[in-house]
Amino acid sequence: MTTNKANELYDVVLTNGRVIDPETYMDGQFNVGIKGGQIMAVTKDTLKGKDVIDVSGLIVSPGFIDTHAHGQNILSGRVQAYDGVTTGLELEAGILPINEFYDNCAKEGRAINYGCSVGWSYARLVTLCPELAVNGKPEPQMGFMFRNLGALGWVEGKAEGADLEAMLDLIEEGLKQGGIGIGVTWGYAPGATLTELDRVWRLAAKYNQATFTHIQNLSMVEPNSGYKNHIELAGLAAATGAQTHICHLNSTSLRDIPRIREVVKNAQAKGLPLTTEAYVWGAGESGIGAAEFNPDDIRERLAIDWSDLTLVKGLHTFSSKEEFVKARTEGPGDSVIVHFLREDDKPEDMALLDMSVLYPGACICTDAIAWVQPDGNFYYGSEWPIPENLNNHPRATGNYTRFLRIWVRERQVISWMDAIRQASLNACLILENGCPQMKKKGRLQVGMDADIIVFDPDTVSEKATFTNPRQLSVGMKHVMVNGTLLIRDEILDTNALPGQAVRSPITA
Ligand SMILES: [Zn+2]
Repeated sequence: MTTNKANELYDVVLTNGRVIDPETYMDGQFNVGIKGGQIMAVTKDTLKGKDVIDVSGLIVSPGFIDTHAHGQNILSGRVQAYDGVTTGLELEAGILPINEFYDNCAKEGRAINYGCSVGWSYARLVTLCPELAVNGKPEPQMGFMFRNLGALGWVEGKAEGADLEAMLDLIEEGLKQGGIGIGVTWGYAPGATLTELDRVWRLAAKYNQATFTHIQNLSMVEPNSGYKNHIELAGLAAATGAQTHICHLNSTSLRDIPRIREVVKNAQAKGLPLTTEAYVWGAGESGIGAAEFNPDDIRERLAIDWSDLTLVKGLHTFSSKEEFVKARTEGPGDSVIVHFLREDDKPEDMALLDMSVLYPGACICTDAIAWVQPDGNFYYGSEWPIPENLNNHPRATGNYTRFLRIWVRERQVISWMDAIRQASLNACLILENGCPQMKKKGRLQVGMDADIIVFDPDTVSEKATFTNPRQLSVGMKHVMVNGTLLIRDEILDTNALPGQAVRSPITA
């Protein structure tokens, strides 16, 4: 709250909403004044504005922050805005070169705030397979990594000696250019050893940055289990002091979540810098050529059957190993959805999903990739509405609104306050040590960035499904990014691209 500036004329005033700030636990009816892209007043007093919007009966909160947004483009941002997301960061896979990524985004414009970590896999790919580089460099978008998932040199090879040093140099250059930590998709290059990762972790620690890891083994089978990897990550955090963020705890834990959660909880209780995130589905999605989709033992490792795997292109569900192998050989970069839990049908699976989604201090993320074209390639255009022939996992469209509908409104297993905290502030608490810009997000307070959402608690809901992921969420009435109304009365302003860069300190 602040003293009322009765004579101040604000750019936008939101009146009579139920204003929730997850940091101070403020929850009450206030007026919010926005000016110059910042929140300038939160008060019971009447405010004057050039644009005054009555938001009675609606919740006003900080916009949601997605720590795991692979779809770094205009369309993905617009669709995510309907889900309440005002900042989407590509931290797990990361990208290289960092300057090129940020320059491209600034040139094209973005609907929501954007940013990325330094892509370890990109550095590894061009170091171990230099013939795959484009003009001697990685290409700064995820399609580069996806289309090279079948190149075993960087997937299975070891980075040692001069290779290791060259790879570390590329990563360090990215950190100097302000990449938000280091994204380590270990499961996509399972050949990497702990010796290599130890060096990567020490580099992160040197720059006071975090690592964001997709674990090496998508497996519940010993000796190469995900359980083992989580113990290794706790060990790397202890050995190097680098903040160690475990990506999508829900998906890579599979049905081992009860004991993996204990590892994370006990490591945190001992003061280790371990953090985590989860999305709200028991189904993941990635490139079918990824090492972890090795068909020889995928059913045992994940405790699933072929019918739990669906090719996004054409939404084809598999029925045999032969079919799966054929699709994997023909298009290793094609996206496949894998149902490791069936939470909509089985209460025991929902209980497993709860263990990560509701984990205290974790943040809600999406892991959503860019929209997929009929030929399997990613779509980077900006047509609106979403072209009819594009596909995706419904988490790209309705992850946060699904969280609000199911977990808060219907099941009532978490309060609005705590859900908003899980979806906004927690990401800031995880990131702001290395990326101070995040100190001004995730809070509805005077002096904070005006990334604000206004939604109807009675109707807010996802509409996207696996068969039609293009249906936008409903109930997200107004979405403001840096003080600009990107969505007003649930209508997108197609001229607005108010997203700004989120970046760690630049040292070179
Ligand atoms: Zn991942």
